[in-house]
Amino acid sequence: MIDCLFCKIVSGDVPAKIVRESAGTVAFRDINPQAPTHVLVIPRDHHPTVAELAASDAGLLAEVVREAHEVAVDEGIAESGYRLVFNTGVQAGQTVFHVHVHVLGGRGLNWPPG
Ligand code: 5GP
Repeated sequence: MIDCLFCKIVSGDVPAKIVRESAGTVAFRDINPQAPTHVLVIPRDHHPTVAELAASDAGLLAEVVREAHEVAVDEGIAESGYRLVFNTGVQAGQTVFHVHVHVLGGRGLNWPPG
């Protein structure tokens, strides 16, 4: 999609520190990390939110979540614990409207989130 930052990361037009790829997804380090591990997993195809992805391609959503777990394994945080976050909508803090799951870990994470 034209003018979508994460589509440009998928195409290679915007550089990113890619840590993992699958047929349908790309995982890369967040530019402003909030934890020792902060990786974003996105589908290659453009879907604005997780709700829209769930409605149009549930299999691809499952692949995103599987890949997020594999990132946690690769980062050595699967055993200690990690958090997956889909910010959905402006009030929840979503700023990039190409669905992405945040993989956060490597430190104790507070609850409730801010
Ligand atoms: P959201 O707030 O939409 O849930 O998350 C968007 C995330 O994308 C933020 O954590 C932000 O730091 C990250 N981000 C924004 N621009 C870039 C970029 O150009 N490169 C990378 N790697 N991450 C970005």
